Amino acid sequence: MFLIKGVNVMDEILNLSINEMPQTEFDCSCGKHHNFSVHDMSIRKGAIEDLPKMAEPFKDGKILVVFDNHTYKVAGKRAVELLKENGFNVKELLFDTGDDILIPDEKTLGRIVQEQDLDTSLMVAVGSGVINDSVKFVTSRSGLPYIIVATAPSMDGYVADGAPIFSQGYKYSPVAHLTYGLVGDTDILKTAPQDLIQAGYGDVVGKITAIADWDLAVKANNDYRCDTCVTLVNRALDKCFAKAEGLKDRDPESLGALLEALTLTGVAMALVNISRPASGAEHMLSHFWEMDYIARGLNPNHHGIQVGVATPIIARFFEELADILPEGTGALCPPHEEIEALLAKGGAPTSPKDIGISKELFHDSLLKGYTVRPRYSIMQFAKDNGRLEEIADKITEEIYG
Ligand SMILES: [Zn+2]
Ligand SMILES: [Zn+2]
Repeated sequence: MFLIKGVNVMDEILNLSINEMPQTEFDCSCGKHHNFSVHDMSIRKGAIEDLPKMAEPFKDGKILVVFDNHTYKVAGKRAVELLKENGFNVKELLFDTGDDILIPDEKTLGRIVQEQDLDTSLMVAVGSGVINDSVKFVTSRSGLPYIIVATAPSMDGYVADGAPIFSQGYKYSPVAHLTYGLVGDTDILKTAPQDLIQAGYGDVVGKITAIADWDLAVKANNDYRCDTCVTLVNRALDKCFAKAEGLKDRDPESLGALLEALTLTGVAMALVNISRPASGAEHMLSHFWEMDYIARGLNPNHHGIQVGVATPIIARFFEELADILPEGTGALCPPHEEIEALLAKGGAPTSPKDIGISKELFHDSLLKGYTVRPRYSIMQFAKDNGRLEEIADKITEEIYG
């Protein structure tokens, strides 16, 4: 039987709009039973007005709203007003970092724990990467729900259960939990800095090679795949790419489509409980570069910016290995020039050279990127077929000369 909200429809999630997807449970044509446990999502112009309704089940306790100077101005102030107007007991936590970047480390996480009272029933995180990850982690450990009011379409972690944080100077990504609700107000998203918009867009472009990599892993390594999830992600990509031109001008519809694509890959990840729908070899290169920067005490580029420029590079791998790829896999990865054009369309950098990756680091990452995590990818495929070094040399020469 195929169940969704009590109705028997197979793969029905494909017929739902994004705001209808929360609390979806169904038997899937991939043979698994999927459950998307997020309770509420509102992605639209004026979505912040939905916050009080979303928070209603927690009204008998105190609501801790967390923001920094910037996110207070663009959304936190309004969130607090709305909750107070609707009779909620609200406590505010402002991270006043001045010009410094907020780091999701012991100090930040500890502050949130300190401000959580015994009668706190819900936290509302107002922000993007760091505030989302910090509140997500703390609430997962204290057993409280949280709602994220997104202030930038900068990454796909809003609907994801991992929380990248720092411990004693090292970054790791412990499993936390999924958000209770997501507010994505396009009027707020359009205030996001352009580099965060580019980062979110780069992360979405990366799904192209992530999906091709997943196909390779199915055919060359017997991995599991859910085609319903692949369809979900592909549709979101089409919609986002069709409107990418407007990102440079912060067109609200383009920003909404971008957040929707980031969120839908999160939905797909939550359905299959693996990050395959969102992350392939392009993410391995990005992680390799990031670790190198951190080891040298430097600030890395935004995650999505790196993922974006890594995507045409991984497409080059697919091109170079076309003669030995399993049937049908190569067709899933467009030519690298097309991916570069897509990046440029959305205003994102297109080459690792543009973002300061050195020739040495780049070459090294092509040779060792496959070791970043134990996951079958096109780089592993190149290695297994004795072609990795030759391809790494060739691509490095093409880009850096
Ligand atoms: Zn990513
Ligand atoms: Zn499935």
